[in-house]
Amino acid sequence: MKYILSSGKLAFEDKLVRIALIGSVFTFCVATYFVLASSVSIYLKILLLLGIFTSLIAMVFYIRYEVTFQLRTSTNLVDAMASGDFSLRANNREVKGALADFNNLLNGLADRLAQQSLISKEQQVLIFKIISQIDVAIVACNQHKAITLMNPAAEALFDTNFEEKQAWPVDSIGLQAVFDHRPSEVFSLDLPQKSSKVLVRTDTYLEGGQIQTIIFITDIQQVLREEERSAWQKLLRVLSHEINNSLAPIASIAETLSSLTSNAKVGEIRDDIHEHLNNGLQVINERAHNLNHFIQDYQQLAKLPEPNKSVTSIYKVINDVIGLFEGCEFTLKGRDLEVFADNEQIQQVLVNLIKNADEANRASSIKSSVSEIEIELIQLNAMLSIEIKDHGNGIQNTENLFIPFYTTKKKGSGIGLSLSRQILRNHGGELYLINSDDETFGAVAKMHLPST
Ligand code: ADP
Repeated sequence: MKYILSSGKLAFEDKLVRIALIGSVFTFCVATYFVLASSVSIYLKILLLLGIFTSLIAMVFYIRYEVTFQLRTSTNLVDAMASGDFSLRANNREVKGALADFNNLLNGLADRLAQQSLISKEQQVLIFKIISQIDVAIVACNQHKAITLMNPAAEALFDTNFEEKQAWPVDSIGLQAVFDHRPSEVFSLDLPQKSSKVLVRTDTYLEGGQIQTIIFITDIQQVLREEERSAWQKLLRVLSHEINNSLAPIASIAETLSSLTSNAKVGEIRDDIHEHLNNGLQVINERAHNLNHFIQDYQQLAKLPEPNKSVTSIYKVINDVIGLFEGCEFTLKGRDLEVFADNEQIQQVLVNLIKNADEANRASSIKSSVSEIEIELIQLNAMLSIEIKDHGNGIQNTENLFIPFYTTKKKGSGIGLSLSRQILRNHGGELYLINSDDETFGAVAKMHLPST
């Protein structure tokens, strides 16, 4: 601890000593006058004067000691707080008045700082946990562009560890180009150590009054690869399920038929074997037919042509389609609008969705003589929403609806929704299928199309 005194100036406690000494000299002179003027013996006079002198000097130095002690105690407390130790408190049991008020203030300050330091430590731990768990790579550097932080995602991306790279320039991990961009700007970057592109965004923050840069890096290639892999997995699951469904019975029937014919004598095919053969071949034919159907559906999904767009009245498209559903009763709400779309493809989407609505109505637990479907047109900013509402039981499983070939129907193909969504996305729109909030309806299919 340093006590800085301006040259030539007395310390505060010494000033007090000087004032007390000046006061004491006057008191001592007055006391000496009265003692000398008294009629007591010379020995007693000397004794009295010595007593007065020592008690005055003792009083002066006791005051100095008390003041110094209180000031040092408070200084130690403030010094401990300045070094981050908030556990010390000023003892207030034996003091009163101004010093007690001062100590109370110091103790209150220590309590508040202790609480704030705890909150800040907890927040630091939370931020540290988030930074270490997050998939986004984070690198921070100081005003000299030297690395001050790397989270585990950044260590993995740059195939290094923070201890090795701490205080190294950001150039050492190929990030020098980030300073050519404005803070908050998102840009892509080729990393020398990766063959893939990454998305980068920088921001700044203050630490100790110095501007620091924080760099967020997302490996988009990895995200894309993961999505691609999951799409392939889904497709393979569906393909293998479909092909297995057809091949397994064919293989088992072929085996049965082969053992039947090999057990029969040459030139002899009994009636029962004949019947087995017929039935078996029929199943094989049916399965082959189904497989062919499936391949055609798959081709339809995989070879979807680019939309051939023109300005079309949405009323006209809807009226053309609802004419195909003779057994249904339609209510059309909302005013007509024009869309810039491929007429045929939009008709195909409407056919798929109205067919689903009709099938949902017919499968409904509440039986009705007619299949009622409501179509409502709603303008949502730059989008037109065409909502197809049925009176069915609603959607049973909302999870796999848009996975190609997912169906809950006995004779369903499971491509209607995925094909329709693909068509709408190719138009810059979207398809949603949800359960209606309105109890009078079952499900609502919402076709969103950009309006002209
Ligand atoms: P498919 O009609 O051949 O089953 P889709 O892709 O059109 O194929 O539909 C997939 C699944 O979505 C259906 O099997 C059904 O479970 C569910 N679904 C579609 N439309 C509705 C609807 N209007 N109400 C309830 N469920 C629906």
